[in-house]
Amino acid sequence: MSDLKTFKGGVHPHDYKELSREKRIEDYPLPSSVVILMSQQLGSPSKPIVKAGQEVKTGEPIAESTGFVSIPQHSSITGKVKKITEAFTPLGTISQAIEIERTQDDIWFDGFQQLDIEKTEIDVLKKRVQECGLVGMGGATFPMHVKLSPPKDFKIDTLIINGVECEPYLTADYRLMLEKTESIIKGARILMRILDLTKCIIAIENNKPDAIAIMKEKTASSQGIEVIALKVKYPQGAEKQLIEACTDRQVPSGGLPMAAGCIVQNVGTTYAAYQAVVEGKPLIERICTITGAAVPENGRKNLNVRIGTSVKEILDYCKVDTNNIGKLISGGPMMGLAQKTIDTYITKGSSGLLCLSRKEAESWEPEPCIRCARCVDHCPIHLMPCLIAAFVEKKMWEEAQKYNILDCIKCGTCSYVCPAKRRLVQAMKLGEFEIRALMRKKKA
Ligand code: SF4
Ligand code: SF4
Repeated sequence: MSDLKTFKGGVHPHDYKELSREKRIEDYPLPSSVVILMSQQLGSPSKPIVKAGQEVKTGEPIAESTGFVSIPQHSSITGKVKKITEAFTPLGTISQAIEIERTQDDIWFDGFQQLDIEKTEIDVLKKRVQECGLVGMGGATFPMHVKLSPPKDFKIDTLIINGVECEPYLTADYRLMLEKTESIIKGARILMRILDLTKCIIAIENNKPDAIAIMKEKTASSQGIEVIALKVKYPQGAEKQLIEACTDRQVPSGGLPMAAGCIVQNVGTTYAAYQAVVEGKPLIERICTITGAAVPENGRKNLNVRIGTSVKEILDYCKVDTNNIGKLISGGPMMGLAQKTIDTYITKGSSGLLCLSRKEAESWEPEPCIRCARCVDHCPIHLMPCLIAAFVEKKMWEEAQKYNILDCIKCGTCSYVCPAKRRLVQAMKLGEFEIRALMRKKKA
């Protein structure tokens, strides 16, 4: 076990995956309505191309991209556009959105023909990924077609399929690897063709032995695809840490993973690429883990749910008494986003709905730093969180930047290990927000 690959730093939080790991993927019933956000991706928001009263089929484009780093959106049900409205994003900001009421069961839009993985031209495959609105589904929501278009000066030689799912509680990717193994492998083949690569690593943490075994079995005759078991450690699934563990290469400070010759795609995104190409299905649904102490045992699930479904309705379906929720988190407890309201909607980045109990969500007052350096020892990026947080507190932006605050991946490890319960990751987020605002102002 000790020779398993990993990265330097990190922590070992209890993963709580036992709450939902045995729950097979279940289709959530077709919702009576959906609210599809125009800002559910990194980059510029999408622009509606439908009007109130217009009838739409499942998978039909309803919004166009507004730039290269943007995506189109598609109706996730068959129905009528009720209105162009606004809704909260998981970040707590407001986004333009399209509300659609379902009028019948799925009638599929027939504009996306099924394509052959090996015979279709590479440009056509790439265009399909773009047209189908694919984004990174591990939570980053970066448009997939942008990652698949590396600038010519980057020499890419390895595709890494990220099956780590190191966030505690989440089991959506794990179930997908067990239940859609061959489709994920075909998705990896599509990405290898688009990138013109002969080497692909499927990386999985060693706490998912059955997923590792089935991936190894199904890739045994697949040339160029290797399955690697990684040491269980958080944040093993973060791109830079994953690249270090899989290839022994370091992503330079301020650099993109591409600078280390690698492109990383999550298993959910890889499966979505398979669906887009082989099944002609745009990204209109995803697997979402419903879990946490505030969810009864029979309500904990891995649901295949349509994009735009009401979070409130999903919690009802999972028999969650919302009065018992101390904190609702979109995603996992380390990198997820605490929600201000349950009046939100599933987006392409909704990997989980974590319902913590009131006791678990009790807040604490931070105490003065005792200079123990635990945050420094465990930071996977080798930053000095205690020092940077002190700079942020004093609005010393230049100093914070000098100590590489912009390299922080917001993994929360520093906050997790701090005995004084200092709000370190919050300081990192605030500092980056302020520094980027200043940079934009300067540029303007
Ligand atoms: S400083 Fe950033 S990268 Fe380092 S542990 Fe804290 S959140 Fe993670
Ligand atoms: S872990 Fe907390 S108490 Fe220790 S040095 Fe870092 S901020 Fe200070």
